[in-house]
Amino acid sequence: MNIFILTKQVPNTDKIKIDPVKNTLIRDGVESILNPYDASALEKALKIKDKNPETKIYAISMGPKQAADMLQACVAVGCDDAFLITDRKFGGSDTLATSYILANAIRYVEAKVGKADIVFAGKQAIDGDTAQVGPEVAEDLDIPQITYANEIEVSEGKVRVHREWDDAIQVVEASMPVLITFNKDEELRFPHLRDKRHSLNFEVKEVTYEDMPQIDESVIGLKGSPTRVRKSYPASLVKDGTIIQGKDVDEAVDELVEALEKAKLF
Ligand code: FAD
Repeated sequence: MNIFILTKQVPNTDKIKIDPVKNTLIRDGVESILNPYDASALEKALKIKDKNPETKIYAISMGPKQAADMLQACVAVGCDDAFLITDRKFGGSDTLATSYILANAIRYVEAKVGKADIVFAGKQAIDGDTAQVGPEVAEDLDIPQITYANEIEVSEGKVRVHREWDDAIQVVEASMPVLITFNKDEELRFPHLRDKRHSLNFEVKEVTYEDMPQIDESVIGLKGSPTRVRKSYPASLVKDGTIIQGKDVDEAVDELVEALEKAKLF
């Protein structure tokens, strides 16, 4: 069985800052990590492989060259191969264009290693946060999709998935090939030292625009993307702050409680 997993390198969100002029994320000097939802999905794929050692796992990421490090880390924990989809023409793509490129990349990898039985993705990336890419890739590939998955069992060409559904758990089945987007409820295992060392020399395969001649250039990149970010700014948490000062503690607390009651917050 072939599992393809979509992985995105993201900045560690605690440290995200927005460039006030360009309206883009400031990534310089910010630590990059494997999107935690993808890390959780990868752990689930590895558990399937633990039970069925003939399973192959292929990691695919679209991003700049430095995302190769993240893909090497995926190999260190047990992915069989890794593909970095990278080209200046892909830069500036919105979710629709990104998904279109990723779907074409999946076709490209399938031509090399055989059909994907299951495509794994995170539910969302912690930087873009749209949760659109998984479902859009499934649409582009014209395969079924199961979103918000927690648990997965695999048997005889089918998957049985527990998906989070409001305050209930929905159990659904689908035949393969299928794309599944996963919640974040697993910690990715640590690599063995030997595998980590080996992965540092592992050559991640780069896939460029030239490698996928079927891609329509008019629907990728900044120009080909139907959506535009007009403005990005950090949300202001404090609206109209009031500072109570010049009173002793008891009086200040009474005044605070009164104000909270008035605002129906207490
Ligand atoms: P989500 O949909 O939240 O991710 C879900 C899952 O999809 C992830 O867990 C992962 O499994 C998979 N996935 C997502 N992205 C990738 C990837 N790159 N490779 C592999 N797997 C992936 N970015 C720019 O750099 N420049 C821009 O100008 C730009 N403009 C944008 C305009 C708009 C309106 C929007 C919405 C986004 C824009 N982006 C831009 C961001 C870019 O579209 C996203 O980085 C990308 O589409 C992924 O979206 P997301 O982070 O919301 O992923």
